[in-house]
Amino acid sequence: MWHASNAGARGRGALSGMSSSTSSSAAEIVFDHVTKRYANAPKPAIDDLSLTLPAGDICVLIGPSGGGKTTAMKMVNRLISITEGDITIDGTSVNAMDVTELRRGIGYVIQQIGLFPHLTIEANVATVPRLLGWDKDRTRARGRELLELVGLDPDEYGKRYPAQLSGGQRQRVGLARAMAADPPLMLMDEPFGAIDPITRERLQNDFLRLHEEIRKTVVFVTHDIDEAIKMGHQIAILREGGRLAQFGTPEEILSNPTDDFVAQFVGADRGLKRLALRRLDEIELLPLPKNGDKRLECPADTTVADALSAMLTAGARDLVVRGKDGELTGHLTFDVVTRLLSTQEDEVRA
Ligand code: ADP
Ligand code: MG
Repeated sequence: MWHASNAGARGRGALSGMSSSTSSSAAEIVFDHVTKRYANAPKPAIDDLSLTLPAGDICVLIGPSGGGKTTAMKMVNRLISITEGDITIDGTSVNAMDVTELRRGIGYVIQQIGLFPHLTIEANVATVPRLLGWDKDRTRARGRELLELVGLDPDEYGKRYPAQLSGGQRQRVGLARAMAADPPLMLMDEPFGAIDPITRERLQNDFLRLHEEIRKTVVFVTHDIDEAIKMGHQIAILREGGRLAQFGTPEEILSNPTDDFVAQFVGADRGLKRLALRRLDEIELLPLPKNGDKRLECPADTTVADALSAMLTAGARDLVVRGKDGELTGHLTFDVVTRLLSTQEDEVRA
């Protein structure tokens, strides 16, 4: 299920409009008691990690720096070897696959995107199709399609070199390159980490919109809990020493952190963060009060957190909700919000 915080990113944007040629299947990834010990290291970097990442979901790996996020990710495409245990993609061990084939089936996006500086944008995006031996026309058409998809005009940017683009634009090119051969799995290691907050938010929204259409399995590494909550269908929190602290949906983790480490990691404002996952049109509101049209009002696609903020800012104790068709649909009070937080917790526990 697409959770509510992503709802704001719905609609047609720069990254939408996929053609049918870009809808391969997604892969299920299983970490089965995976341990990684680097040579000469006293403690493992990843310690007995077991996880099932459902096909088609964005699965976020998050944790403190040095917690083993990059190590876990790089064992999937065998940039790092597994010491014990196994990782399977749709049931097949990564160690049983030809390493070149394995990597061609995985789109890989990293923070400092690693575009080839001496190649044009067009040629960068065409890297994998060329390796796969696609003919010129097909490669070129795919390159144009992908640049459009990530919001870059191929006529304007195709012939430029990476140094002639902004950081955010380079990140878009990196994304296009990773998707070129339509891999069923994408690994993204802090892909938006080095980008200013405004561009970052735009890239996040664009990627969510894009993902709704392409539905690949994405393993997404970040150290930013807000990014994790926004991007993830599933979140795996790693603690120091590469041990799994908790695995679940953003809602599960925010409402039921397993221990103090997770509670601290998600932040004291986890209740507010949960409210940011629900929109007014997804919750049970009270019937409209008399003179509803004289009260503070909010559009129905507002998150409960934003509605609450609007109430506090306006010094109001309630507000009315206006639906898409222009009708008032219900009444939000502090009580409704309080009840929502307690009910959600029960639902999750049940
Ligand atoms: P994260 O991505 O969560 O910041 P990493 O996976 O990069 O963490 O690192 C996890 C741990 O493994 C750290 O303690 C790091 O120092 C160690 N480590 C990472 N790469 C190597 C390596 N090539 N050799 C030895 N130790 C490493
Ligand atoms: Mg890392």
